[in-house]
Amino acid sequence: MRKTLYIIGLSAFVFSCAPQKNIKKTVYKPKTPVTQPKTVVKTPVTERPKPQITNDHGVEFFTTNIADVTKNDNTASYGSIVSAKPAGYKVVKTFFPAVAQNFRQKYLILHYTALQDDKSITVLTQQAVSAHYLVNNTGDNEIYQLVDENKRAYHAGISSWRNDKNLNDTSIGIEIVNTGYTTDATGKRTFASFDNDQVRKVAALAKDIITRYQIQPTNVLAHADIAPTRKQDPGPMFPWKRLYDEYQIGMWYDEAAKQSIFELAQTDLMNRYSEPSFIYLVQTALQKFGYGIEASGKWDDATKKTIEAFQYHFRPQNYDGIMDAETWAILQALNQKYSAK
Ligand SMILES: [Zn+2]
Repeated sequence: MRKTLYIIGLSAFVFSCAPQKNIKKTVYKPKTPVTQPKTVVKTPVTERPKPQITNDHGVEFFTTNIADVTKNDNTASYGSIVSAKPAGYKVVKTFFPAVAQNFRQKYLILHYTALQDDKSITVLTQQAVSAHYLVNNTGDNEIYQLVDENKRAYHAGISSWRNDKNLNDTSIGIEIVNTGYTTDATGKRTFASFDNDQVRKVAALAKDIITRYQIQPTNVLAHADIAPTRKQDPGPMFPWKRLYDEYQIGMWYDEAAKQSIFELAQTDLMNRYSEPSFIYLVQTALQKFGYGIEASGKWDDATKKTIEAFQYHFRPQNYDGIMDAETWAILQALNQKYSAK
């Protein structure tokens, strides 16, 4: 309720800040459909270049990128414009587009299918799960689109990152064909590798999506990152470092920063591993980075799985879910580099 009042208050404030000279007092009269154009002269402010709208077979497109990233003005649009067609009235683009808007697509989430090619297609097109894109492993140059980028695909499930929840609402999902993992008698998981061709395909696709929607490096994530207690994909064999080094995709830590923290991290681990205050510190650092984890002060199952998800992404050589000096140093180096705004 308090939040609602705040929003109402804020709206009133915003409107009260509008230039008074532009406000015309009008009395609302129910209209009948207008057939003759009125002679009202409309003079839109033309400080900004107006994007060209093209029409093809009745579908309007707006393809000019007039975004000013420095002002968080993110008005580029690359798809068709979806407009109402109210009976008897005409929706016009005279004042289109407003500056205050951005993309709904804030995240890019990577997955593996844990299935072979054919089965992946069937499951992702005929059943209750889907993704925007499916990257096959058949060595050709095709990438399958399964869902319109403007629509929600069902790939993330119950998920969170920083302050966002249910990331299906705000993400593009890419499924990568890969068989996932097998588990040995001790419970250790062994993951299948990704072919070079397939990684190049994923990188090209990811780069295109990230560029068009201006997705932040901190929002390019594994399914395991946003649902660490439920998911492992795309797992430790997925080459996140290579994507960062070769394509500037996503996050990676600076080696020098990690090294400068490493000694202190070792001391922490040696002296304080079992102290609730240290466990709390680690959990808080994971939270700050983005993971939806409770700070319980205990090495509980959710914490172990979250550390494992972190290791899949940033320290894939050993993903036992145990906090060690290197993992602790990497986490701190990442938090220094990508601190939440
Ligand atoms: Zn997944």
